[in-house]
Amino acid sequence: MEAVMRTIFHVDVNSAFLSWTAIKQLEDNPGSTDLRTVPSAVGGDVETRHGIITAKSIPAKRYGIQTGEPVVKALAKCPDLILVKSDFVTYRKYSSLMMALLRTYTPYVEQASIDEAYLDVSGITASFNGDVPALARDIADRIKNDLGFTVNVGISTNKFLAKMASDFSKPDKVHTLYPDEIQEKLWPLPIGQLHGCGSATAKKLQNIGIYTIRDAAGTDLLILQNILGSKAGAYIHERANGRDHSEVAYQEREAKSYSNETTTAEDIDKNNYERLAVPILKELSSKVSARLQKDHVRGATVSVAVKTGNFQRHSRQAALNTSTDSKDELFSQAKILMHNLLFGSDGLFRKGEVIRLIGVGISNLEHGENQQMTLLEWMQLNERQTRQKEKNDKLDRMLEMVQKKYGADALKKGNF
Ligand SMILES: [Mg+2]
Repeated sequence: MEAVMRTIFHVDVNSAFLSWTAIKQLEDNPGSTDLRTVPSAVGGDVETRHGIITAKSIPAKRYGIQTGEPVVKALAKCPDLILVKSDFVTYRKYSSLMMALLRTYTPYVEQASIDEAYLDVSGITASFNGDVPALARDIADRIKNDLGFTVNVGISTNKFLAKMASDFSKPDKVHTLYPDEIQEKLWPLPIGQLHGCGSATAKKLQNIGIYTIRDAAGTDLLILQNILGSKAGAYIHERANGRDHSEVAYQEREAKSYSNETTTAEDIDKNNYERLAVPILKELSSKVSARLQKDHVRGATVSVAVKTGNFQRHSRQAALNTSTDSKDELFSQAKILMHNLLFGSDGLFRKGEVIRLIGVGISNLEHGENQQMTLLEWMQLNERQTRQKEKNDKLDRMLEMVQKKYGADALKKGNF
């Protein structure tokens, strides 16, 4: 059976935590300094200046500040560095919004981390006349225009190559790394930049003279397995040669939505809104919630709809931080959205319209056993990754010291 050629995207938010905090600050405080335009970083404890940098702005990068390095060290490089706290509620919000936006292009979306996703776009390139980079640019531009932050998109025929491509120059870039570009674009890179090759593995490979991905690609599989063990050796050999057979593991979500609507007994305007419309919103929210709970389904995008006196339909929707089936949460979101739709700066009541129908709905559905990671889980995952990185770096420094003192063979990492 001949393998079908896929088209895979890897979408990666540029300086995610920093960008998201920057947007949040601009929303809260219009006209304030955009953190992305000055040396700034997310990390550690802002007051005591302990801990490590978890994200940095591009101007901070120019000072040589690196993700994973101690805050103290970063401040030594750039004393004016603006430090901001982690804000997982905000991260989660923008992450959900981006994933929901990506799912409007294709259901084949695998969320790989809080700010990264793989997309299998094989089925939708035709709508861009096969112009794959134009499709990638369209996705990146929509994220930029609708959500306010930039992403890199890597394009290839498998997940690994797409991931490597998205890591080429940043920000706001689309890059290809097709199999026939491997020699030119992948092979010159240092082995440590191969996705999945940690610093310990890179060191072991460098010890036997493997410095670039090309070196690893040309090394006999058995030699790599001898040095790294059978699984890791096979992994490095496959990836260095640009091979990755893993599928985009998308979460099945139903396109369908749950909604209820009702025609109002009399026309609603700004004077009787509180008395007539708000109780209807509450009633509709309870009905939708009851149906969700009965079916063991939760939704992550809430919407409201109205029909005006001249039968025009208008709607508003918003993504939640976490999916829900609660009538109270639905009601409170629906109220905010409806208020915005009617009384907002572009609101219908401001234009003198009246309302004859009200609807509440929820979409972006998932089944109970298949819930998105909770905020707490995200935080724990992030902490685990950060701590692991700290541990690895410490271990590497110790190893280096011992090796300098007693020679390269004195100690193998397994002995720790
Ligand atoms: Mg990123």
